[in-house]
Amino acid sequence: MPVLLLNASMQPLNVISRRRLVVLLTKERVAFFDDGVRASMEAELEQRRLGEGVIVVRLLRNVTIPRRMIRANRRNLLLRDAHTCQYCGVQAAPFELTIDHVVPVSRGGSSNSWENQVVACRRCNGRKANHLPEEVHLRLARPPRPVVHEYAHLLLMRHPEVRGAYEDLMRSVLPLVGDDSRRPSSADRTAAWPQLS
Ligand SMILES: [Zn+2]
Repeated sequence: MPVLLLNASMQPLNVISRRRLVVLLTKERVAFFDDGVRASMEAELEQRRLGEGVIVVRLLRNVTIPRRMIRANRRNLLLRDAHTCQYCGVQAAPFELTIDHVVPVSRGGSSNSWENQVVACRRCNGRKANHLPEEVHLRLARPPRPVVHEYAHLLLMRHPEVRGAYEDLMRSVLPLVGDDSRRPSSADRTAAWPQLS
């Protein structure tokens, strides 16, 4: 039974264990979205039986996501760049892809920043070698950016089992697109919500 923990702002923070959920509940730091879920969760805890399905809870107070939580490592770069070579656009299995330093480390490029690393297929990486992209007529599909604001996106890609529950919840609490009458403050709050495209 995965537990998806949301920030008070509704942004997904983490997938936590049932044990961690109990701790957060004891400390009164999280809330359920409806009383029915809370009641069945409490019943499960009493009977010590494992429930089915995804539980979504929300922190009562917002926490700031520290930037250091999201490292520009190979796994996260593959997720950011959608397993796609940023030079030729080919999509491939992870083992067929490499991480390219846009400005080669030997020429002063950063070895571990989001901005200087992109996913590249072996062919493009071989062609690029110790050059700048323009020197070998390669062009980046898009400027490499940190994923600070896409943390939720990464989290849901890593935990596809909770994605459906999260999207269902968003549909039930989000006003329909273009229908501002149902929730006047939606425009302000939507800005803080993750992009799920
Ligand atoms: Zn390529």
